[in-house]
Amino acid sequence: MTRSSVKKTTKKTKASTPKKQYVYAFGKKTDGNTTMRELLGGKGANLAEMASIGLPVPPGFTVSTEVCGYYYDNDQSYPSSLLATVKSAVVDIENQLGKQFGGHSNPLLVSVRSGARDSMPGMMDTILNLGLNDKTVDGLAEISKNPRFAWDCYRRFIQMYGDVVMGVQAKNDSEEDPFHAVLEKLKSSLRIELDADLSTENLKELVKRYKALITKRTKSAFPQDVMEQLWGAVGAVFGSWKNDRAILYRQQYGIPAEWGTAVNIQAMVFGNAGNDSATGVAFTRDPATGEKVFYGEYLINAQGEDVVAGVRTPNAIANLEKEMPKSFKDLEKVRSRLEKHFKDMQDFEFTIENGRLFILQTRNGKRTGLAAVRIAVEMQKERLMSQETALLKIPAESIDSLLVPVFDPKSLKAAHKIGQGLPAGPGGATGRIAFTAAKAEIETRRGNKVVLCRTETSPDDLKGMLHSQGILTSRGGVSSHAALVARQLGKVCVCGAGDVVINYEKGTLTAGKTVLKEGDYISIDGSTGLIYAGMIESTDSEVKRVLEGGMKPANSYTYELFQIVMKWADKHRTLKIRTNADTPAMAAQAVAFGAEGIGLCRTEHMFFDGDRIDYMRQMILAVDEVQRRSALRKLLPFQKKDFVGLFKAMNGRPVTIRLLDPPLHEFLPQDDAVRRQLAEKLGVPFDYVIDRIKALHEENPMLGCRGCRLGILYPEITEMQTRAIFEAAAQVLKGKKGIKVKPEIMIPLVGFREELADQLKTVHRVAKEVMANRKVRIEYLVGTMIEVPRAAITADEIAQEADFFSFGTNDLTQMTLGLSRDDMGLFYDEYQRKEIYNKNPFASLDQTGVGKLIDLAVDKGRRTKPTLKLGICGEHAGDPSSIDFCHRAGLDYVSCSPPRVPIARLAAAQAKLRNSKT
Ligand code: PEP
Ligand code: MG
Repeated sequence: MTRSSVKKTTKKTKASTPKKQYVYAFGKKTDGNTTMRELLGGKGANLAEMASIGLPVPPGFTVSTEVCGYYYDNDQSYPSSLLATVKSAVVDIENQLGKQFGGHSNPLLVSVRSGARDSMPGMMDTILNLGLNDKTVDGLAEISKNPRFAWDCYRRFIQMYGDVVMGVQAKNDSEEDPFHAVLEKLKSSLRIELDADLSTENLKELVKRYKALITKRTKSAFPQDVMEQLWGAVGAVFGSWKNDRAILYRQQYGIPAEWGTAVNIQAMVFGNAGNDSATGVAFTRDPATGEKVFYGEYLINAQGEDVVAGVRTPNAIANLEKEMPKSFKDLEKVRSRLEKHFKDMQDFEFTIENGRLFILQTRNGKRTGLAAVRIAVEMQKERLMSQETALLKIPAESIDSLLVPVFDPKSLKAAHKIGQGLPAGPGGATGRIAFTAAKAEIETRRGNKVVLCRTETSPDDLKGMLHSQGILTSRGGVSSHAALVARQLGKVCVCGAGDVVINYEKGTLTAGKTVLKEGDYISIDGSTGLIYAGMIESTDSEVKRVLEGGMKPANSYTYELFQIVMKWADKHRTLKIRTNADTPAMAAQAVAFGAEGIGLCRTEHMFFDGDRIDYMRQMILAVDEVQRRSALRKLLPFQKKDFVGLFKAMNGRPVTIRLLDPPLHEFLPQDDAVRRQLAEKLGVPFDYVIDRIKALHEENPMLGCRGCRLGILYPEITEMQTRAIFEAAAQVLKGKKGIKVKPEIMIPLVGFREELADQLKTVHRVAKEVMANRKVRIEYLVGTMIEVPRAAITADEIAQEADFFSFGTNDLTQMTLGLSRDDMGLFYDEYQRKEIYNKNPFASLDQTGVGKLIDLAVDKGRRTKPTLKLGICGEHAGDPSSIDFCHRAGLDYVSCSPPRVPIARLAAAQAKLRNSKT
C-alpha cells in the first residue's frame, strides 16, 4: 500500500470518540513492555522492555497487531488516525537523533520489521536502510565520510525493496534471483570476484542497473518519496502475514491466523560502517546442547541480514574478544543482564557501529529439545526460575529429542567420514540426498528417507525440511535459517559445512575426493557435526539404554535430566497416563517410560501372527455357529497366552482390553493367489472362499458390521475373548508370583445403551463361570468406548450400564466431522492452505466441535454415575494441546502409544499448572 492509498481510506474520526492507540514508541519515551506481546508482538514488546531498563536500543516505534487485523478486515487499508500518528512517531525519532527522515544532509534511515506474538523466524518480510534515495544517499556519504558505505546501503535497500515490496523476484525455481543476476553480470564484466571489491563508482552503476530492472519488471520507478517507501514497506510486512511460508509455519506451530503481526520501525545503526563495526546474533546459552556458554557469531563490516541469511559464514563469538575487546566486554554484560531480566535463554541481535554497541532485538531463544530440558533444569538450579516455570518452559514434545536414536557406535566406526560442519540439531540421520525441497517431498512420499542438502536454506524450504530426516548446509552458521528451523522442528542438522561443495546444476555433492549424487545415501550427525558417505545404523538414545539396563544411570547426564523433569511432572500432574499396547514388549517399554496402565489393547492386532490368521480366517468363513465355535476354540489358547503376557508385563496395573472391533473382511486376503492357498489350507473350494468374501463385502465398512455389532451378531466371539481374559487373569493371579490383575473389558462402537447391555450379559456370564471353575475372585470392570456421536449424546443412558468410558477420538472425530480417517489426502492440502483446519483434526483434537461432545458425555455420564472412570485412547491422547483439553474436561487418564508416554506425563503436568494459574 502506498501513501496515496492511505489518504484514500482516511476518514474523519468523531471528536467525541477517544482515539485508539495504534502506535507505541520505544527509546527515550517508551509506551510498552514485555507483557504486551499480544498487541506489540514479541519483538516490539521486548524492544520496549529493553529500552525501559536502559539497554542501548536504537529508538523507534511499533504499529500494533490490531492494525494488522484492521488491514485484513478492511480491504488492506489502515485506521484513519494512523497516517498522522506514524508521521509524528517518525518526528520523535528525528528529534532524539538529530536526523531527518528524507533529509539531505543528515538523513534518518529506518528498518521495517515484522513481529508476531510468537516469533516466526524468517517467515515474514523485513526491509533495511529505508529512507535512502538519490539525494539522501549523498547526505549519508558526506556525514559518514564514507561514500562507498552509503552507496552499498543504497544498493542493498533497492534490492530488498524491489524484491519484497515491488515483487521483483525469480519467476520460477530454475531462474536466478534477478538482482543477483545483475550483480554477477556487473562483477564479471569488471573481473571482480568479491562484493567487497566493488568501488563506489561500481556501486553507483549497480544502483542504476537495479533501478532499470525494477522499471522494466514493474513498469513503475523505484520510489524516491521516503514516506511512500515507508508505507510500501509497512504494507509488505502486513501482507507477508499471509504468505505461503508464514501459513505453513503457523500450521506447524498452531499459531492462529487472527493473531496478526505488528510492524516495528526503528532507526538504523550500521554494522557495515567500517572495520570498527560489526553485526551479530548471540545466544546466552548454547541453543543446541543447552550448555551455559556464550554462543553466537558475528561478521565485521556487515549488516544483520548477512548473518541470518547464511550468505557469509560468520566467526564464532569467542573471536570477538580478540578482535574488539571492549565491545566483547559490553556484550558479556548485556548477556548476563538479559538472562537475569527475562529469566530465560535469550537470542539477541546486536550491531556495533564505530565501536558502539546497540541491541536490536531479543527473544526467548529457539532451542533443541535437549537444550530446552537442560536449560530449564539448570536455570531452576540457578534460581532463575521456579520448578513450575521450568516445567512450563519445556515444550512437551521436546522430551522426544532425549529419546531419539543416535548412530550405532560400531556402525559409526566403520563409516566413511567425508567432512564436518557445525552441529546444529542433535541425533543421527541417514537418508538419500535431495538437493531441493520439492525432491525431498517426492522421495518421502515414495517411502524413502532423505537428507536435504543445500548450500543454504531459505524459508521456502520449510516444507522440504519437514519431510527430511535431517538437513545439511554447506554455508551459514548456527543461527542461519536452516539451523534455527531445524532445531525447532527437532530435525537433525549440520550446517556451515565449508568443505562440502554442492553443485545443483551437476547434481553433485563433493567433499574432498568423494563425489555423491542426488539419491545416494549420506549420514549426518547433528551432535558432532560429522558427515559420512553411505548409510549408518542407528541405536537407542542414552535414556532408552539406561531404562533397558544397557547403560549405568550415573554415566548419562541426559538420563539425569530426563529423570528430573519426569519427577517434577509426576509431582504436579493429576491426569494418569496409560498406554495403548497390544504386546508384552510394548507394555514393558511403556512401563519403563512411566505408563500407569494399559488404556487400550486392540485385540485384533493379536490375530495376525503365524497360524492365528488361518484360524481367524476359518472363523470368518464359517457358515454357522458350530463351524465358528470350532475355529474360536483354536484361537482361545493364543488369546489367553497373549493376555497372560500383558498382565505379567503390567504387574498389577490396570489393563483395558477392547473386544474385537474391525470389520471381519479386513482379515481376508485381497489377492486371488493367496485366496486359492487359503482355500487349500482350509480344505474348502476356491469358489466358497470367493462367495463368502462377496457376502461379507460392505460399501462403507467403517460404518458397517464392526465394533459391538460383531459381538451382537456372533456372541461366541465375545464369549471366547472374555474366557481368554478371565482364564489368563486366573492363571496370573494364582501363579507363583501372585501378580494382581485388574482387567477392564471395553466394548467398542456402542451407540445405544441396549448394545452395551447385550454384550454385558455375555461378559458377566462367562466371567462368573471361569471364576467358579478356577475358584478365584477377579476384580474387573466393563465399560465402553465413546466413539459414536450418539453415544456422547446419550451418555446418561449408557452410563447406567458402564463402569467406565474411554473416548475413542479417532472414530469420534471421523463421525463428528463426517471425515474419513483414511481419505483426507485429496483435499487436506487445500484446507491447510486456506487455514480451514487450524491443525489436522486427527492429530490434535477439534476442541470446539468434538470437544463439545466429550464435555457433554462427561457431564451426562457423571450425573448418572459419579464414580464413572473416564479416559481417552484415540491418537489425540499423545498430543499436548489435546491433553490440556482432557485435563480441563476432567478425565481421569489419557492413553497414548508407548513412545509418547513421557511427553504425555509432561503435558499433563503443564495442563495442571497452566489451568490452576488462571
Ligand atoms: C478410536 O476410534 O479412537 C480408537 C481408539 O479406536 P480405533 O482407532 O482402533 O478405531
Ligand atoms: Mg475406534
